[in-house]
Amino acid sequence: MYVQPTRRLVLWDIDKTLVDIGGMSREIYAAAFKIVTGLELEHMPNMAGKADHDLIIASLRLHGIPEPASHLVEFYGALAAATEVRKAEIKQHGRCLPGAREAIERLAKTPGVMQSVVTGNIRPIAEAKLAAFDLTGPIDFDIGGYGSDDGERAMLVRLALQRTQQKYGVSYLPEQVFVIGDTPYDVASAKANNVRAIGVASGSSTAGELHAAGADAALNSLRDTRALVQVLLG
Ligand SMILES: [Mg+2]
Repeated sequence: MYVQPTRRLVLWDIDKTLVDIGGMSREIYAAAFKIVTGLELEHMPNMAGKADHDLIIASLRLHGIPEPASHLVEFYGALAAATEVRKAEIKQHGRCLPGAREAIERLAKTPGVMQSVVTGNIRPIAEAKLAAFDLTGPIDFDIGGYGSDDGERAMLVRLALQRTQQKYGVSYLPEQVFVIGDTPYDVASAKANNVRAIGVASGSSTAGELHAAGADAALNSLRDTRALVQVLLG
């Protein structure tokens, strides 16, 4: 009898889940802010779990720039450019989080598992951050959800599901889709779409907090690849 492989769609958050580029995120923002407004970035909203769309509007507003939404497209371009010229620094100052590479590679070898991202980053930054640590191979960026798509992370998950359906003609059952991230925002975005959430306590939230936010499972890190696979494949 032919047994179909277990189908899974894994949607990775990037910052503090797979990689940590530390102060580089703010530096890139400040550079883009200067390009767009001519001003120094003096205040920055808390970035954890937020989409670039919302961060841009909030930071422009904090500096009294009128009609912040009218600058979004230019800002995205400036962010991509500011990232492009800092690729070497991202690699130098950032790090791949423990277990992240092993987890992605292990899942890439598991039949039926598709991997993409749902991230607050715009796509060029998402690709650059993962490329800096050689993590892009198994990731299908075409079907991801990005910070320029919407401010709501739940919408980013919804878009990723739609893009997967459009590209592959396949829809996944809710229990076959896993959002993996380090903040309660990641967990909430999964829950809003009725899909599974795995919290990883590699950011500022504890495993307990991620559980309390509704995560189906919460891991201390991605180091325990076997535990992760167990949760994913059941
Ligand atoms: Mg994150």
